[in-house]
Amino acid sequence: MTKYRLSQQHLNLLTTCPRKFQHLYLDNLSIPTTSAEQERLNWGSQFHLLMQQRELGLPIEPLMLENQEMQHCFNNFSQAASEILEPETQNNIILRQAEHNRSLNFNLYILTVIYDLLIAENQQAQIFDWKTYSHPQNKKKLAQNWQTRLYLYTLVETSKYLPETISMTYWFIQPKSQSLPYKLKFYYNQQAHIKTEQDLQQILDNLTYWLKHYQEEGEEFPQVQVLDSCNTCQFATRCKRFSEVYDKPPYIESTNISDDLISSLDSIPEISI
Ligand code: SF4
Repeated sequence: MTKYRLSQQHLNLLTTCPRKFQHLYLDNLSIPTTSAEQERLNWGSQFHLLMQQRELGLPIEPLMLENQEMQHCFNNFSQAASEILEPETQNNIILRQAEHNRSLNFNLYILTVIYDLLIAENQQAQIFDWKTYSHPQNKKKLAQNWQTRLYLYTLVETSKYLPETISMTYWFIQPKSQSLPYKLKFYYNQQAHIKTEQDLQQILDNLTYWLKHYQEEGEEFPQVQVLDSCNTCQFATRCKRFSEVYDKPPYIESTNISDDLISSLDSIPEISI
């Protein structure tokens, strides 16, 4: 049986609307991005590339040469996050790596994470993530987001670190902003680890059930219960919800049915959380 690879984006979709997960990854419908979204995504990719090159010790000046906004943001970020970018000592560090990948077998699935930066010391480890937009208003929501939960969970399960010794920090680096970048840091503990494992078990049991019925009987995944979410969803017409919102389907049909979520993994744009 195929082992599906799942990222935090997949888990977020499965918990917000399983039907949307089906449309995107099983029906292979894609949502066109607007030029503003594309511009934001390109900027985010460039910033991540710059940070990766910096960690590899490669020159970053060429990436900023013709992009004054990038230079301005990087300078601001260097000022705000000097303890990460210019630490006083690196003596205790056993691993420092950008774009650090980890995978974890979980029942029939492979859970995958990519840390923008991991700094591992003997007694503690820190995960960092760069978000290239302003910080979210709701810290509780971000704590519950599957990026936070899966990233922390996977590090504990794939290392010797106890939950209490790891953390995850988001840095919000917004282009065209006059203020310094903002950070939100999340700590972890054994209780949260157990709860995440239970929730993962439940989500993936549901997914196994839905996949079986979708593949064998063509039964659709459940729709979201909270109809408010449909208001802004591109599949509202297809789902027969708020069909007056769109004249034409705002998604692209594809005849290729994916039998492996791996192919979809790289195509997910960064979503504001
Ligand atoms: S329209 Fe509503 S039910 Fe359909 S995919 Fe979107 S959020 Fe889910």
